[in-house]
Amino acid sequence: MSISTSVLSELLQALPTLRPQIYFKASLTALSHAMEDQVLAATMEQPLVIASFQRERFYRQEAHRYQRLAQRSNQIYVLSAPETDFANSSEYYEKIAFEHDDALSQEWHLVVIAQNYATCLVCRESLGSLAKNQQLRDINPSLDMDTARRFEGIWTAERGVSLKAAEFLLDRILAYRPELADKIQQARQRFGIGENKSETKIQQLNEYACDIDTDPFVQRLVTYLQASQYKLHKAYRSIAAQARKERLVNTISTAIRRSLDPHEILQVATQELGENMEASRCLIYRAQETDAKAVIEHEFLSPGVSTVMGKTWLLENNLLFREVVLQSEGIYVIDTQTDARITSSQELAKLVKQYGIRSWLMEPVFYQGRLLGIVELHYCNETSHDWHAGDFDLVEAIATQVGVALIQAEAYANLEDLNKQLEALDRTRSNLIAITGHELRTPLSTIQVCLESLASEPDMPPELQQVMLDTALADSERMRKLIQDFLTLSNLESGRVEWHPESLSLQECVDLSLSRIRTRFASENLPKITTQLAKSLPLVKADGDWLVEVLAKLIDNACKFTPTDGQITIKGERNRKKMVEVTVADTGRGIETHLLEIVFDRFYQEEGALRRTTGGTGLGLAICRQIVNGWGGEIWAKSNGKNQGSQFHFTIPIIEGSQEQKPLKVKSK
Ligand code: ADP
Repeated sequence: MSISTSVLSELLQALPTLRPQIYFKASLTALSHAMEDQVLAATMEQPLVIASFQRERFYRQEAHRYQRLAQRSNQIYVLSAPETDFANSSEYYEKIAFEHDDALSQEWHLVVIAQNYATCLVCRESLGSLAKNQQLRDINPSLDMDTARRFEGIWTAERGVSLKAAEFLLDRILAYRPELADKIQQARQRFGIGENKSETKIQQLNEYACDIDTDPFVQRLVTYLQASQYKLHKAYRSIAAQARKERLVNTISTAIRRSLDPHEILQVATQELGENMEASRCLIYRAQETDAKAVIEHEFLSPGVSTVMGKTWLLENNLLFREVVLQSEGIYVIDTQTDARITSSQELAKLVKQYGIRSWLMEPVFYQGRLLGIVELHYCNETSHDWHAGDFDLVEAIATQVGVALIQAEAYANLEDLNKQLEALDRTRSNLIAITGHELRTPLSTIQVCLESLASEPDMPPELQQVMLDTALADSERMRKLIQDFLTLSNLESGRVEWHPESLSLQECVDLSLSRIRTRFASENLPKITTQLAKSLPLVKADGDWLVEVLAKLIDNACKFTPTDGQITIKGERNRKKMVEVTVADTGRGIETHLLEIVFDRFYQEEGALRRTTGGTGLGLAICRQIVNGWGGEIWAKSNGKNQGSQFHFTIPIIEGSQEQKPLKVKSK
């Protein structure tokens, strides 16, 4: 059995002068609670209470109150649509389970009738509000629009109206639970319900004086009003905080979109965050987990606050930084004067004092789990700063944006770097082709001229023929060397060389390169060569073949550019960087200061390839630099200028704790 007639409609039909109003659900809850509390607080003799809940779950929230109400009266009726265990029962009070499609399922009623007091709330949920709520919930399930539900109906303390409402509700109860007929009859008789009263009689009844103290009712209502006002205030605050967060995040992401200059982006972020958080100082700096220190690169200052820009923050023993790294989340110090992390650390206590920091927030900037930097907020006031819950979310959101900016800037810088390298590589490639072409063409054309002359001039005197042949042979030898050096260099540059590092005695490598030189030059054409290797020099770690190659090349150059009455010295000593530094010094023609670096360029030869008297390809020093860099060393030239002699220095890693005594294992080339 289900009844489709609305109790509100019945009431409005019976009393056409009634004007229904719109109530929000929150107001109905407040009114209902106040009405129930009135019953609990006032001295009413066994009042009649009828409450109708749309759903069982709404009833369940109030069930305990109805148990308390049941102690005040035996005429209590609670109606609801069953969902789980709500069923007809008479245990504490009368429970009436109505059908789901009963018009009651859209309505909210509460009627209280005593001898000296009557009030009723008869309402129906507005269908439009139901549909709208559903729509909103579909769009965003987390949206709690329950309190915005609207009802239309009557709330009144008029006795006549309340009696009429009780009459309709008791009829409904009787329909569902006919066995309660006697009890209902008692209620009707006691309060005069259902006596077919005329409108005028009802009017008189409405003027019925109420001698009950309505203070609890009013107080309860005011409490509800205050509570909803507070909720509203909280909601406004959270909306305002959300809006502020979105605005700030927007400003910073716009800055990221507009610019690829990390400095500019981080400056905007520091400024906006500092201003928004009303901080005395806002800092952003780059830092990685293992960094021992960081330099403050971006700062926002409020007026009168001292700057820390460009200062170095020590991170190694900074307890706050370590905690941020360990927990992978932001931390804050409400009061630096009492916080143990600060008071127990001399370093932090010093910073706090020096820069007047009273409250301190440190937020990590992460990108895919990698620490990129830190955002810091300082409050330098007399009293400690009062943080709001939303503040931390806001700083975290900004830190996320800063992370994106930093990583974007890093990627951009890498790209720029790569571009530059590519451009340089392209330039080198073109230069190389041009130079190699030129270097190869020169001897080739000489060879061609010589051979053509020999072929076309059969009568050429034999001495001249010999000259032609010697020239052609010398140039073809030069071409062979050039091609060989060129291939060596290109293999070294492209990383196609296999290194076989071993423990080597420098003395033995020097000896081997000197013997190689001596097979090349007749001894009377050589300047005096002396070797000065420091005592107890450690063994070096390098590829023996290549080390001899470098030494031979440098000694070879020294011999070429030093007159026979000059002097060449080969020195070896341990330097401060825990490497062996080898120097090949000569008293020869020297190098002008501006050429000291250029001599390492490919094909550089002071006199130019054509006017060369010393032989050589112009690739030797470029090859040496590749080899030395290959074992992690450096090579450089020094000279006081023309005719002042030159010194070529290079470094080799050492075998720690070793001393030269190992027998030579270097293969000769
Ligand atoms: P190469 O010796 O085959 O010409 P290198 O690359 O070894 O080529 O040397 C490049 C240039 O550096 C030489 O042509 C010379 O001008 C200069 N140079 C190298 N070593 C010395 C030195 N000891 N004294 C003066 N100039 C030197």
